[in-house]
Amino acid sequence: MATSRKLSLPVKILIGMALGIVVGIAYNKFSPSQEIMRELLGVRLFDLGGTLFLNMFRMIVVPVVLVSMMRGVTAMNNPALLGRVGLKTVIIFAVTTVLSSVMGIAASFAIGIGKGCSIALPEDSGVKLEGTISSFSDTLASLVPSNLFTSLVDANMLQIIFIAVAFGIALAKIQDKVPKIMALLEEIDALNVKVVEMILCVAPYGVFCLLANTFSNFGAAVLLPLGKYIICFLLVLAVLLFVVYPILILCLARLSPVTFYKKFAPVMLLAFSTSSSNATLPSNIGAVTDLLGVDRSISTFILSLGATINMNGTAIMQGCAAVLIAQLYGIDLTLGQITQIILMCLLASVGTAGMPGAGVIMLGLVLQSVGLPLGAIGLVLGVDRIVDMFRTVGNITGDAVTALVVGASEKALDREIYARPQ
Ligand code: ASP
Repeated sequence: MATSRKLSLPVKILIGMALGIVVGIAYNKFSPSQEIMRELLGVRLFDLGGTLFLNMFRMIVVPVVLVSMMRGVTAMNNPALLGRVGLKTVIIFAVTTVLSSVMGIAASFAIGIGKGCSIALPEDSGVKLEGTISSFSDTLASLVPSNLFTSLVDANMLQIIFIAVAFGIALAKIQDKVPKIMALLEEIDALNVKVVEMILCVAPYGVFCLLANTFSNFGAAVLLPLGKYIICFLLVLAVLLFVVYPILILCLARLSPVTFYKKFAPVMLLAFSTSSSNATLPSNIGAVTDLLGVDRSISTFILSLGATINMNGTAIMQGCAAVLIAQLYGIDLTLGQITQIILMCLLASVGTAGMPGAGVIMLGLVLQSVGLPLGAIGLVLGVDRIVDMFRTVGNITGDAVTALVVGASEKALDREIYARPQ
């Protein structure tokens, strides 16, 4: 007990993750053969623990984004600055997403991702695209909510961002007349931060359950036939994380990437465990603001937007999966089709919700745009939870890097806080 009190939270989370993986794999191998025992003893328990943990973050993410972003926009008190920050952010999001899908596609061709794979091709996985397509066009068409309460109840992040920006601008104009509202928002913000801190206290147990659940459901054997796909995806993700992002941090923000990763690692672990950009958002805002020194008004805005529309890791997966499926089905992609895949990855990134498994559903959109068989989604579905954990790390790290770069360019980054040892 005495030692556990001395361990820092990131170390405890790491231990929770490692134990979760070991227990999950052991459970998958040696679990009792009777289904009922399996259900009662392990899988249900891990599932329940993991779901409770994820739900806690889902519970707090709406108040965090709404209040903290509204305060941020009010603090900016400058529509021109807001527009500039928004424009820079969207440009960096778009460029990094396109680059990610291009790297994924190029690497997949280079290693012949679908060549020499012995996988039975599904006839029809029953995947239907109607829901996906309507949800994608909904994303663009319903940016402006018609009912504020529905947006909050549905946790529709893009609409909540719109509401926060609109109310934040209005509040900035009349802040002298509404001091009570200003003070109330400040207090709610402090309360939200406390709740997030409390949730993080149980994070080691939560990530243990999430990983034990994932690994007790998948044996290592499921990874083997798709080994090339997974390795290709991981290699490109490593290039994104350890080459592209550091270059951006170094060249555009003039900051040390090593310091960034040292301070940001716990958030990456959380993203890995939860597979959800939204669930990681409150911790991401906390780290980028308090440890990396980006002004809260800018960090909340960029990170909330990023958790919803910027998915670099997902774009890599979609690029790799599209080439894999084309090669497995013996389809030669033309240059026009490849360009279309890149464009669709960018659009799918906007439409992908920051929650587990959303990216693979949007893969349907990418496949359909170039006439690849939709049923083939079933091929990558089996390993998607594992791939999802990694790509979510790429997604949220991209958001944080963008916040650093934009923060630095707007002189809204405290370099002393950034360099301060933890
Ligand atoms: N799980 C990812 C995220 O939350 C989305 C995806 O499935 O690609 O960022």
